[in-house]
Amino acid sequence: MENIKVGDLVMVIKPIPCCGYDKRIGMISTVEQIVERGMYCTICGHNFGTSTHTIVNGIGFSFDRLKKIPPLEEQDKIETKEELPCKV
Ligand SMILES: [Zn+2]
Repeated sequence: MENIKVGDLVMVIKPIPCCGYDKRIGMISTVEQIVERGMYCTICGHNFGTSTHTIVNGIGFSFDRLKKIPPLEEQDKIETKEELPCKV
């Protein structure tokens, strides 16, 4: 597991394991918090139980769904409010 901590820039690289919801993939933001508490899927309601996970953009992500991005010197801020359009 990569050493992800609060303030790190991360990208979502995996769908939710329970139902495969993948519209967060490609989202880049900073880790706001690392918490240990119960987590459940907001899409299908699957209960993951209590675990240590990150809060990114107000959403809980398990560590294995995130990839740490090295800070960019020339870009001090990346806007990530929009989600990528998803073609089905
Ligand atoms: Zn789900």
